[in-house]
Amino acid sequence: MLEYQAAKDLLNNKTILVTGAGDGIGRAASIEFAKHGATVILLGKTVKKLENVYDEIVNAGYPKPAIVPLDMKGATEQNYIDMADTIAEQFGHLDGLLHNASQLGALGPFEHIDLTSLETILKVNVTAQAIMTKSLLPIMRKAEHASIVFTSSGVGRKGRAYWGPYAFSKFATEGMMQVLADECDNTSVRVNSINPGATRTEMRAKAYPAEDPQTLKTAEQIMPTYLFLMGNESIDTNGQALNAQ
Ligand code: NAP
Repeated sequence: MLEYQAAKDLLNNKTILVTGAGDGIGRAASIEFAKHGATVILLGKTVKKLENVYDEIVNAGYPKPAIVPLDMKGATEQNYIDMADTIAEQFGHLDGLLHNASQLGALGPFEHIDLTSLETILKVNVTAQAIMTKSLLPIMRKAEHASIVFTSSGVGRKGRAYWGPYAFSKFATEGMMQVLADECDNTSVRVNSINPGATRTEMRAKAYPAEDPQTLKTAEQIMPTYLFLMGNESIDTNGQALNAQ
């Protein structure tokens, strides 16, 4: 989908929440959505990083974003209900939700899986995303068209040795996308997933420490698929597992 070209005003008047907005792909998506006219709600755990993205968006003259500092590891259902109420009060509805935040955890043999780490990865990558989506669905149904995008991975589509809990979580992500997409079929809400492919970020460097990052696409380069799924040109796309590269 690298060839998709978005109109400058593609996301005008849309409000889009991005998780993990402070770094990597989430940071690039937040800036790109704002550049195309969206008001972006920046959710993440490191406030300083969110503030930097906020400043970049405001300094570029794009619509003023909002910041939601939240660690999805410890967040409760009530946190998400309160967040949905605040968004409803401030914006009335929500047009887009990009589930981008994830944890990689340690890679290694199955016998080395650590229970605490397994539970954390499933909490951040799956449980938190499910409960956040549940809480936000009522205000997404108030939008004329709403788009939910989950972030998958190559190891969420075909299992690979040593990828452990991260890979299980990405298979669960694809399953969650399919279940919700089926429920939302023929409604104003559409649900899809993106596999970003190898992208130059901290997570990728952690997974492949010996790789030369210069050989990889940047997060900015893979944005066309993200824009396509958030814009109205994708209103008939539902239940699809797309590749950004
Ligand atoms: P990244 O640079 O590590 O960024 C991950 C983001 O998620 C960070 O902003 C991080 O916030 C946030 N995050 C992590 N744990 C969180 C928590 N408990 N609560 C709230 N936010 C949390 O990773 P990335 O490479 O951009 O990855 C983005 C997505 O693409 C992930 O879902 C990843 O699995 C997927 N992906 C990436 C690649 C790749 O090659 N890069 C390939 C396939 C799939 P802090 O910075 O504050 O920790």
